Amino acid sequence: MYDLLIKNGKIVTAESVTEGNIAVKNGKIRAILIKGEEPEAKKVIDAEGKYVFPGAIDTHAHLNDPGYTWREDYEHGTAAAAVGGYTTIIDMPLQNEPAMTTAEIFDKKESIVSPNAYVDYCFWGGLIPDNFDDLEELDEKGCVAFKSFIGPVSPDYSSLNYGQAYEAMEIIHSFDGRAGFHCEDYSMIKWQEQRMKKEGRLDWQGFLDSRPVAAEMVATVDMIELAKATGCKVHICHVSSPDVAQKIKEAQQEGYDITAETCSHYLSMTDKDVLENGPLFKCAPPLRSQEEVDRLWGYVEDGTFSGIASDHSPCSYAEKYEEILGQKIENVFDVWGGIGGIQSGVQVSFYEGCVKRGISPSTLAKVMAENPAKTFGIYGKKGALKPGFDADIILIDSEKEWEITSESLKYVNKISAFVGMKGKGLPVCTIVRGEVVAQDGDVTDTKGYGELVKKIKEK
Ligand SMILES: [Zn+2]
Repeated sequence: MYDLLIKNGKIVTAESVTEGNIAVKNGKIRAILIKGEEPEAKKVIDAEGKYVFPGAIDTHAHLNDPGYTWREDYEHGTAAAAVGGYTTIIDMPLQNEPAMTTAEIFDKKESIVSPNAYVDYCFWGGLIPDNFDDLEELDEKGCVAFKSFIGPVSPDYSSLNYGQAYEAMEIIHSFDGRAGFHCEDYSMIKWQEQRMKKEGRLDWQGFLDSRPVAAEMVATVDMIELAKATGCKVHICHVSSPDVAQKIKEAQQEGYDITAETCSHYLSMTDKDVLENGPLFKCAPPLRSQEEVDRLWGYVEDGTFSGIASDHSPCSYAEKYEEILGQKIENVFDVWGGIGGIQSGVQVSFYEGCVKRGISPSTLAKVMAENPAKTFGIYGKKGALKPGFDADIILIDSEKEWEITSESLKYVNKISAFVGMKGKGLPVCTIVRGEVVAQDGDVTDTKGYGELVKKIKEK
């Protein structure tokens, strides 16, 4: 007897959409069955009319736990992920106290967050100038990649110069790891910011002009060159611009293992939102034009991106409008940069992609589940609706209309640029390893069920 049978759904794989049933036992998918074939199971979910997607994987989330839990924590952040349809999140090492840069801190962090997780989670390892000797051990612990900045970053985390990045990539390449970078050229955006301040351009157009596509492009092209030189696998984080995506695509076509993600806000919001609504829409790189948003979708469709991340980067209300860590906000440059979006990413991507632009659900399954799993070394366990894989499944009601409200958000801080957005097509049931962790906008009694997922070592 199976533990769970999900029947009559439209099963979405990276290749096709077919009606059928999924049988689950001991947290794993055991069989994909044709419609009508209904073996006995302890629990049956009728998914009639709904899409049955592989659970989405958020390749880039800041849950800030431990350390900055007034911004977000595991309990709230993973509850939001569960409700939103991300069944695995890959958590960033910074905005943690301490930042996750050694094997010892890895263990400590896991013991702190694991009692509170609703969904499964992986750790990005830290990559800062003084932890090169710790990288291999972090890889052995199970870190799925290593995050660094070529650009300004929070006070608790230092960025690398190109020389340091080169050395780190040689090291990471030696154990077949993947290095991930926030790509905005530091000198360029720092100079532009000074220039804006000197010219008295302290408004939102000044902010947008301080972080041009050119800054993102220069840093990305440089990282691609370092990847080519060192042979290191590289992941470009949160790409906002289709022109940057084109450069990545060209490197991929040359045969380099360079992956990239974009984010749900870059696929649904524009610079106009920043100009009209300000603080909540500040993120880095910044939101771009509608024309760029439309072209960016082309790189989702053609497979350049292996991830639509949330880059969930929450903060308190005060940090958007009043003060950050005791520092009064004087102008747009002081405002916290980051958008809270882990609860909204899947529905917004489904609506903008599948409903509005007619992208096939299979394409979305590929970019939000299969390719992230492959990129971060967890494919086989995560990433597809296939026998032997974890039964991480989301049911999407394609007819369900929604409006995102602050009351619906599970975050510590119920603020987000996504509040007020409307659309159609909503994850209504989220299943992690065969267990329903969220249903109809709320979590079930499964706090602490989420588990650490380690990079699968190829033998
Ligand atoms: Zn980030």
